Amino acid sequence: MSKLIVLSNRVSLPHPDQATAGGLAVALQDALSDIGGVWLGWNGEQVKNSTAVHFNESKHNGVQYITCPLTQEQYQKYYSGFANNTLWPAMHDRADLIQYNSEEYEVYQQVNRLFAQKLQQTAQADDIIWIHDYHFLSVAHYCRELGMQNRIGFFLHIPFASLKLWRLIPQARLLIQDLSQYDVIGLQTEHDQQQCLQVAAHYLGSAMSQNNMLQYKNHQVMVQCYPIGINPQLIQHAAEQEKSNHYFDFAKMRQQKTIISVDRIDYSKGLIERFNALAAFLKRNPEYQQHLTDLQIACPCRMDIAAYQNLFEALKAKVQEINHAFSQDDWLPIHCIHETVSHDNLMNIYRQSDICWVNSLRDGMNLVAKEFIAAQDPTDPGVLILSKYTGAAAQMSEALMVDPHDQSSMLKTLKKALGMSKAERLARYQHLMKGLKSFDINDWRNAILKDLSNCKDMNVFSLPASKHYPRVARY
Ligand code: UDP
Repeated sequence: MSKLIVLSNRVSLPHPDQATAGGLAVALQDALSDIGGVWLGWNGEQVKNSTAVHFNESKHNGVQYITCPLTQEQYQKYYSGFANNTLWPAMHDRADLIQYNSEEYEVYQQVNRLFAQKLQQTAQADDIIWIHDYHFLSVAHYCRELGMQNRIGFFLHIPFASLKLWRLIPQARLLIQDLSQYDVIGLQTEHDQQQCLQVAAHYLGSAMSQNNMLQYKNHQVMVQCYPIGINPQLIQHAAEQEKSNHYFDFAKMRQQKTIISVDRIDYSKGLIERFNALAAFLKRNPEYQQHLTDLQIACPCRMDIAAYQNLFEALKAKVQEINHAFSQDDWLPIHCIHETVSHDNLMNIYRQSDICWVNSLRDGMNLVAKEFIAAQDPTDPGVLILSKYTGAAAQMSEALMVDPHDQSSMLKTLKKALGMSKAERLARYQHLMKGLKSFDINDWRNAILKDLSNCKDMNVFSLPASKHYPRVARY
């Protein structure tokens, strides 16, 4: 009986309080315990040198977890370096922030090889391997080099860069050749899928065959779009639970409109653009001063990269500047916290907020947008303002769409959201909820695993009949 082996940069070890786990972690854990499997990846720790890198194995609910630390050098060059300082800005259309260093590329390859070797030791011939995200573009290449014939799938959680951006990475051709060694490449949107097919056809010199298949040497790879979903029922349930929420004082704000935003402090999220728009709105519409509060959960990340440190400083200064300019009595326009809030708590905060404003300049999907809708009170739902540059925008056409580069249209949209009638809020919410339920996180997982399981004309484990993903996902 074959098993499923998942490789992701970070492994979500089971937590006694499942409330802290996000939807993706739960969906992968469910897949692994349903089918039987292994979750492999980095344990989040750093050690001084490679002699201290050992894999640790543990088992919970039928799932085997295999994790190891990275050396400090691997962390700096593979993770902070090539993955997050070269690939991440490229995939998010930030040519100006791409830093390339050949040593970092070499260490990225070394870490990809390390995990490929562990996969070889762990996998039986008929096991299915599912690899996640931009940290591991080359793993399938090393697996093939080691003689592995397994079905190996890859899912990219972030956008796929255009050829113009790939051309800025000196090793682009090799990376795309490595990528072609997967059997299935999954992407968030049809736009990413097209971009991937074009870039691959360019570098591989291969014509696209029918059904989104690419051929390189003797290997065929399917490039498909699987927009990641959420679990609407679980979120609805979590959101309904009363929480002692010490982050925002909703009782005190109940006469006001509340806007929630939840982002890692990342230049792809459009945080400064959003705060500038909010300040311009309050200036142009003084009647809203003291009558709306902007709640921002902004979690610092990747703080050993200069671009992230600078953004964090700029963000703190911007919040201070706006609060200083507009504060009156005990009212502050922005409440910004830099803590990570537990998943269940966050669902309850969404439910108590009137508006969610997602302002990404480029975003693979943006799960916050989907979670906010699922968490709403079905009898009195809030409004979603959504950047057109998110993967979610391709499926959530009933949100109020904004272009974060166009401030004046953002101001009009915010005004519309603040004044939207209950009838319109309900109509939009019902439409959006229908979409979320029609292709949820389990459908996403099943669709990918089904394609992967079928890709070599074998069907080794039985999955629930997967819903067919509508080609043009507009609900
Ligand atoms: N999240 C959370 N607590 C926080 C902030 C975020 O649980 O304090 C979760 C959020 O619910 C969502 C995920 O982190 O599931 C963020 O995903 P998204 O796709 O919006 O952005 P990413 O950070 O992956 O770019």
